[in-house]
Amino acid sequence: MSKRQILERYFGHKAFRPLQEEVVDAILEGEDVLMILPTGGGKSLCYQLPTLLMDGVTVVISPLLALMHDQVAALRANGISAAMLSSMQDQEEIRHIEEALERGEIKLLYVAPERLTNSYFLSLLHRLKINFFVIDEAHCVSEWGHEFRENYRRLDLLKRAFPETPIAAFTATATQAVEEDIAANLGLRAPKRVRGSLFRENLTIHARHRIKDGREQLLDFLQQHEGESGIIYTLSRKSTESVAHFLQSKGIEARAYHAGLSTEEKNRTYGDFVADKVQVVVATIAFGMGIDKSNIRFVIHMTLPKTIENYYQEIGRAGRDGLESETLLLFSAQDIVQQKMFIEALPETPYKAHAFNKLESMVRFANGEGCRHQSIAAYFDDRIEPCKEKCDNCLTPERNKVDITTAARKLLSAIARTEQRFGLHYVVDILRGSKEQRILQNGHDTLSVYGIGSDYSKAQWLSIADKLLEMGALQIGEFKVYKLTAFGIEVLKGTEPVTIREERLRVEKSAPKRKVTYFDDYDVEIYDKLKQLRSQIASENGIPPYIVFSDKTLKDLSAKQPATKEEMLEVHGIGEVKFERYGEAFLELLHG
Ligand code: ADP
Ligand code: ZN
Repeated sequence: MSKRQILERYFGHKAFRPLQEEVVDAILEGEDVLMILPTGGGKSLCYQLPTLLMDGVTVVISPLLALMHDQVAALRANGISAAMLSSMQDQEEIRHIEEALERGEIKLLYVAPERLTNSYFLSLLHRLKINFFVIDEAHCVSEWGHEFRENYRRLDLLKRAFPETPIAAFTATATQAVEEDIAANLGLRAPKRVRGSLFRENLTIHARHRIKDGREQLLDFLQQHEGESGIIYTLSRKSTESVAHFLQSKGIEARAYHAGLSTEEKNRTYGDFVADKVQVVVATIAFGMGIDKSNIRFVIHMTLPKTIENYYQEIGRAGRDGLESETLLLFSAQDIVQQKMFIEALPETPYKAHAFNKLESMVRFANGEGCRHQSIAAYFDDRIEPCKEKCDNCLTPERNKVDITTAARKLLSAIARTEQRFGLHYVVDILRGSKEQRILQNGHDTLSVYGIGSDYSKAQWLSIADKLLEMGALQIGEFKVYKLTAFGIEVLKGTEPVTIREERLRVEKSAPKRKVTYFDDYDVEIYDKLKQLRSQIASENGIPPYIVFSDKTLKDLSAKQPATKEEMLEVHGIGEVKFERYGEAFLELLHG
C-alpha cells in the first residue's frame, strides 16, 4: 500500500496536511526528526503512519498514562495493533504484550520514560526490531521549558543504547532555545527540523480584566456556549470547588477536578467529561494535560497563568477537531502579585531564575493591545500577520478609554489618609461611605475622603486599583496593604493623567456567539440523533465517543447524509476500517 492509501484506509483522511508528509518522508528515510507543531496540528499521524510502511515496532515515549491509553484505544479503533506498558497493568497482561512484541505483532508500543531505566525492559527492547523511537511532549527534556521532567533528562541513553535507531521528537511548544536543548539532550543527528506556524486559526482568543471574582463574566460567556464542552482553570483546589458549585447552582453540569481528589474520583470525572456526560470541568492545572478530547469548545482561565507556555498549552486543548472554539482569560493585578509570591517561595533553581521573566511576558500579553495570536507567536520566535478576526484586540481595536484621573486621586488620597495600613476593600468601603462597624470604630467616617466615591461601585474601584498597580502608582505590601509609590504621589498631586479602557469599568458582554464555520448547513436534529448513536456505540464498546467518530465527522455526516458505502467514505474521518466497524449502524440511522 502507498502512503496515501494508508492515510485513507487507516486514518480516514483524504490528504496530508502541510508538513505532515515532510515528516513522514524523513522518518521513512531513517532520519532523526524534530517537529514543532501546535496542538491539533496532527503530529501523531506523522509517526503512526510511517510505522505501517516499515518493518518492526515503533516505541513511543510519552509522559502521561491517560494520553497513552487514549492513543492506543484510538489506534485500535482504526485497526492498527498498538499497546502500552505501564505500572498499572498486572503481570499477566504485561507478559501477553511482551510475547506479542517478540512475535512482531505490535506496530506501536507506548511507554512512560521511567521504564527505559529498567534493565529488564531495555533487554527486551534489544531483542526487538525497533524501526524508530518517538519522543512525545519533547519539551519536557529541556530545563528551559516549562514542564521539565527529571525522567526525560535520561532519554539521552537512547542514542547510546541504540545508536543506529532514529529518533523522532515532537512537541507543541518550544522557543528556539528549547528546540536547541531538545536536539542536544537527545543527541539527535542532524535532525530534520520541521516547525509549523503556531497560529491556531480556529481559536478566538479573549483576555479581559476580571471584574470582582469574575463570575458574572464567566456566566455570560457560558450562556453563549450552552451544552458545549469546556475546561475552566482556576488557581486553587478550593476555588475549583466553589466555582463548580456556583455553576451547578446555575444549572450547569460542572465538576471540580484537582490533585486532592481520590484517583477514583479523578478518573470518573475525566471519563465523564470525555464521554460528554459532564459539560464543564473546573480544574487546577492538573487536569487536561495530554487530554485527547477533540470537541472541547472553550477554555477559560479565571486567573493569570504563570507562563505563556502554560497558557498556550492550556488553550491548545480547545478545538483539536478544527472547529471554531473560544478562549477567555480573566486576570487582575492581584494575580500578578500572587504569582510573584509563589515564585519567591521556590528553591533556587535555573527554573526560578527564568520564572520572573516568564511571568512578565505573560503579563505583557494579558495587558497587550496588539493581536493576541501575533503576540503568542512572537514569544515563540515566530512571526505572523495579525489575525484580523480571531482575537479581541483585532476584533475591537478601538476599545474606548476614559479618563479616571479624579477617581484615581480619590483612591490614592484615601490610601494615604488611612496611613497605608489597610487592605483595598477597607479603603474602598471608606470611599463609598460604608457604615461598617470597623470603619466607625476607627473613626474613618470623619475623614474628608469618606463617602466621596459613591459614584463608582466596589467592583469599579477594584478595577481602578488594578490599573494603578499596573501603572506602578500603587504597590502591595505585607498583609496585602496598599501603598503609594513615588509615581503614585505624582498621580495624587494631579500631574499625571490616568485613563482606563472603558470596558474595565463595566461587566462586559462577551463577543457574539460565532457559528461553526466548517459545515454550516448541517442538520441539527440529525446531528443530535447521530450523537446519541455514537454514545450508545461508545458505551457498548467501552471507549470514548470521539474515538468512534469526532464531532467534525458527525457534522459532515449530517450535512452529506450519505446513503451508500462509497458516499460514506467521502465523509471526513471515515476510512475503510471505521466504515466496517460503525458504517452500517450509521447508514441505517440515516436511511433506515
Ligand atoms: P496533535 O498530536 O498535533 O495535537 P493530533 O494528532 O491529535 O494532533 O490531530 C488532531 C486532529 O487532526 C485529529 O482529530 C486528527 O484526526 C486530525 N488530523 C490529523 N491529520 C489529518 C489530515 N491529514 N487530514 C484531516 N485531519 C487530520
Ligand atoms: Zn488578532
